[in-house]
Amino acid sequence: MVKGFVFHEGYLAHDTGAHPERKERLIAIYDHLKSTSLLSQISLISPKEATEDEIALIHDRSYINAIKNICLSGGGALDLDTVVSKESYKAALLAAGGVLSAIEKVRNKKCTSVFCAVRPPGHHALRNKAMGFCIFNNIAIGARWAQKLQMKKVFIIDWDAHHGNGTQDAFYTDPTVFYFSIHQWPLYPGTGRENEIGLAEGRGYTLNCPVPAGSKDEDYVRIFEEKLVPAVLDFDPDIILISAGYDAHELDPLTNLMLTTKGYGILASKVAELSKKCNAPVVAVLEGGYNLRALAESVAITIEHLP
Ligand SMILES: [Zn+2]
Repeated sequence: MVKGFVFHEGYLAHDTGAHPERKERLIAIYDHLKSTSLLSQISLISPKEATEDEIALIHDRSYINAIKNICLSGGGALDLDTVVSKESYKAALLAAGGVLSAIEKVRNKKCTSVFCAVRPPGHHALRNKAMGFCIFNNIAIGARWAQKLQMKKVFIIDWDAHHGNGTQDAFYTDPTVFYFSIHQWPLYPGTGRENEIGLAEGRGYTLNCPVPAGSKDEDYVRIFEEKLVPAVLDFDPDIILISAGYDAHELDPLTNLMLTTKGYGILASKVAELSKKCNAPVVAVLEGGYNLRALAESVAITIEHLP
């Protein structure tokens, strides 16, 4: 089996103007993979466009239609920092669809892991609300899709520097989707305290590990070993999804964390070990990461270390 990589030119058409979440991020990733010949060793996967029914696994139809109408009428600002253009609706369908295509590949044992280089990102998007550069919650839609394909227990690892409030919210009362997040605290969006552990039947299936500004590779590795590893082994998932954000990198302009490129490789290798132990494939989905070089190199090292 090979490693897979989801990419599509349609992701570049989501035009955000002068904005940190811009098409150059994906171009930097693609060009770097090409220059290191990693691209020739992995299977390029063309994403499908998610259908409205698939997006509605997580989002309300009224919200989906509102996004569609705003985009088709030329776009605009959805909140203070979330912008859409005319092509953004299609890009957002392709972003969610890329995750669905990746999940199908690992389900059919065509790939052991897939990295989805998609945009717009997703983990802040709520059922009825775009926020933090996110329109549709790609990874949450993917988790529900995996369950439809009989991968019933889904473990989401969110290593973006920000807390994935949208993903947490989608599964807060659900014991079949475990949500783990390690993120800078305090920081946008202001959720993700340690005492947010899930509700009702979902109690104990949300695990938040806020870390202070300045946290380094060794802090992340310690938390992975002490908190993440036992949680994954105990849950014994059928599939592991990663909200792979690279804004915890020491060069990132938006946060104050100090992860190195090598550190991301170590995190990916920890996930690879868990994948083998649980016999669960891995699908990583791009979230943030705004220093182009750090982003491109960290994505490459992630792909190298995934199973
Ligand atoms: Zn982020």
